[in-house]
Amino acid sequence: MQKGADVAGGAALELRSVSRRYGEVRAVEDVSLAVGAGEIFCLLGASGSGKTTLLRLLAGFEVPSAGDIFIAGQRMNDVPPYRRPVNLMFQQYALFPHLTVAENVAYGLQREGLPRSEIRTRVGEMLARVALGGLEGRLPQQLSGGQQQRVALARALVKRPRLLLLDEPLGALDRRLREQTQFELVNLQESLGVTFLVVTHDQDEAMRLGSRIGVMDRGRIVQVGTPREVYEFPASRFVADFVGSVNLIEVANLVAGPEGWRCEALALGCRLRLPAAPLPGGRTPVAVALRPEKVRLSVASEGGATAVENAVAGTIEEIAYLGDATNYLIRTTTGVPLRATCLNTAHVAAEGLRWGDAVCCDWPAEALVPLAE
Ligand code: ADP
Ligand code: MG
Repeated sequence: MQKGADVAGGAALELRSVSRRYGEVRAVEDVSLAVGAGEIFCLLGASGSGKTTLLRLLAGFEVPSAGDIFIAGQRMNDVPPYRRPVNLMFQQYALFPHLTVAENVAYGLQREGLPRSEIRTRVGEMLARVALGGLEGRLPQQLSGGQQQRVALARALVKRPRLLLLDEPLGALDRRLREQTQFELVNLQESLGVTFLVVTHDQDEAMRLGSRIGVMDRGRIVQVGTPREVYEFPASRFVADFVGSVNLIEVANLVAGPEGWRCEALALGCRLRLPAAPLPGGRTPVAVALRPEKVRLSVASEGGATAVENAVAGTIEEIAYLGDATNYLIRTTTGVPLRATCLNTAHVAAEGLRWGDAVCCDWPAEALVPLAE
């Protein structure tokens, strides 16, 4: 599903140090980014982090306070919205309530003054692609939420933009429908070859949809990478915490050695060995990220000592059984909590661990991601 991004082969979109300020508010701050042709790039950030402003800058509804915007190699700063090879699909689909499905989709083509027969052909093709064939004559209120979403998508794509901007495109759908629609969206994008820039605050959605993800925080893009890179190698505590569940462990007294760093996790009362991954700017780690699924849990054997490195003892304080996996909260001996997730791979989930059990938690050095900030 995830395709390699070919940014060098032709950037569909490039931002160079783009900022947008509203008085004191820095809605978008010094964003530089290149998105390759045919990519699905997801902008992921909390509410208020500047995602919609960035899309509006690309669509031409806002002008940058500083920086340059290029689409398909052309500088766009002074190009009005209707002259940009871009379409924006709004968060609220904003379908015309008094127009039928076919009329909604045809609207933009009619405004371009295309011949009627061509409009009819293109609208018919696009409705078939989004599986709305047969519903041409319905009004928006006669459609389900998922169908309305597909009309909005068809309306945005029928004009054949090079770049489609989608602002929280699945936000109005319930969970099951979202997951199904995520796959449809990826398939549609692949078959049309249009570049998608999708904005979402939902990290699962960004991981499913994106060939790459850009994580936004207070107007800035703080990390860009494939879903795997962002999850496995977060660049900061902020990203580690925002994308997925994580144990963030502060470290002190670092000593560099041939096998990596050795240090102390004072809050957990244990010693750590970290992989020898170099950090940007040669900085030393201030913390490590440890994903819960990388923590191994075992029943503490009586009198058995816990390993000297990358291990702590504790008791199980909370158990959340999720079907496919179980989440545990372990209160370690210092009182600091540690999260562990275990996959329930056995046919009948073993009821091994219970509330209050004494356990050992350990993890391999490679599971620890050193963080410089
Ligand atoms: P997101 O889409 O990530 O939720 P927005 O881009 O809508 O974030 O907003 C980013 C920041 O810019 C917010 O603090 C918001 O209040 C502010 N902002 C957005 N548009 C305007 C505007 N027209 N005037 C003043 N502040 C704005
Ligand atoms: Mg928004």
